Amino acid sequence: MGSGQVTSSVPSGTSEFQGKHVTVAGLGVSGLPAAKALHARGAIVTAVNDGDDARAREQAAELEALGITVRLGDGATLPEGTELIVTAPGWQPGKPLFRAAEQAGVPVWGDVELAWRLRGPDAAPWLAVTGTNGKTTTVQMLASILKAAGLRTAAVGNIGVSVLDAVLGDEQYDVLAVELSSYQLHWAPSLRAYSGAVLNLAPDHLDWHGSMDAYAADKGRIYEGNKIACVYNVADPRTEDLVREADVEEGCRAVGFTLQAPAVSQLGVVDGILVDRAFVENRQKNAQELAEVSDVDPPAPHNIANALAAAALARSFGVPAQAVRDGLRAFKPDAHRIAHVADVDGVAYVDDSKATNTHAAEASLAAYEPIVWIAGGLAKGAEFDELVANSAKRLRGVVLIGADRALIREALARHAPEVPVVDLDRTDTGAMLQAVTEAKRLARPGDTVLLAPACASMDMFTNYNQRGDAFAAAVRELGA
Ligand code: ADP
Repeated sequence: MGSGQVTSSVPSGTSEFQGKHVTVAGLGVSGLPAAKALHARGAIVTAVNDGDDARAREQAAELEALGITVRLGDGATLPEGTELIVTAPGWQPGKPLFRAAEQAGVPVWGDVELAWRLRGPDAAPWLAVTGTNGKTTTVQMLASILKAAGLRTAAVGNIGVSVLDAVLGDEQYDVLAVELSSYQLHWAPSLRAYSGAVLNLAPDHLDWHGSMDAYAADKGRIYEGNKIACVYNVADPRTEDLVREADVEEGCRAVGFTLQAPAVSQLGVVDGILVDRAFVENRQKNAQELAEVSDVDPPAPHNIANALAAAALARSFGVPAQAVRDGLRAFKPDAHRIAHVADVDGVAYVDDSKATNTHAAEASLAAYEPIVWIAGGLAKGAEFDELVANSAKRLRGVVLIGADRALIREALARHAPEVPVVDLDRTDTGAMLQAVTEAKRLARPGDTVLLAPACASMDMFTNYNQRGDAFAAAVRELGA
């Protein structure tokens, strides 16, 4: 796919987009601000969108009022004269629009690429995070640490505030904590983060990327051109491979994070203390204490890994150790991410509704024992053998819900035949109360009832938030 630069042969003082024919592909979260920003810089914008539902029409009216051409219901054909496409990150590279663009030599940028190019000369550097799981948590931890160091910052990207809004808004920042999805990285060829981190890599979105290699390569783009540190996960060697493959600036270092004692150039854990052996003087001999494991909420192993990655990025920006500790202490996880709902009759009830894939669910299952596991939903093509085999010994029992629960049931029969399974043959919203009732029956004092579905929620709920809320409501009802 072309990624060439829009020539800036316009007179100085004028926008490089002046008079350019730019097609914005996809209305919505990123399309709307992108179209407006380009229009304001003198581009001749055509916005195209596959759907033409009520929301798209509303957005179209907003753009048309500014004089922007909008074509609803046809995102496939390349508008005549297009010199650049700015696409919504989710649009698949195989779409006919992009094939036509490739043939015509038209470059394609995503919202992140546009933001990167539009940021001003004194713009804040980006500390960037990607990975299959843990991105939002890590970026929020990072922003909290940076704030504790007195820096003006925000958590942006695939996380509520778009990078475009952050870059174009009036607020001044010293540094940005940026969450990037694999889609966004795919469409951001010239992004050069100050430091970048890949937290982990597990099969996800393979239908979009085409293969695991292509998915990994897109994630690996976060390391391109890093200045200070490429942060990788020692326990996930593929992340280190990606560092090796990247072209970085002279002097940029590979910095690992590990739940074990850190080697030189790593951050890790020693006797319950998070330690830095990368950003210290004389790191052959010295290490710097950063925080205690108990400063991290929740102190589950994968979340300690997130904290170490956030700390590594912050330390690469020169943040002192004390700010790492203060920032981690101030951090509160978003809802439905290993949220402790209540203890009822000596049993802990934990809501990790956000565990929507097997990799995430495996991480949260690794944090407790014994567990009564509530799982199931929409599998999105996932296989459950590895997850079940690796978690079997921790399971007191399992309650299955949702459309694709048979896949999990079959994996349990193969790898954990002795574990009792309750299979709820219903997908209505009320099924959650029954699931929690069954889980309560299976659990013994000291156990954890864990909602970590390893599946998407849309077969039974609007989203994972509603699923988690239904779980919490059921726990409260039973506990009352
Ligand atoms: P993302 O933004 O990548 O979706 P979140 O921080 O929102 O990640 O966490 C999503 C879910 O992934 C959590 O509920 C938890 O189950 C799981 N998770 C979080 N961090 C990790 C990690 N480092 N490794 C594996 N799973 C994780």
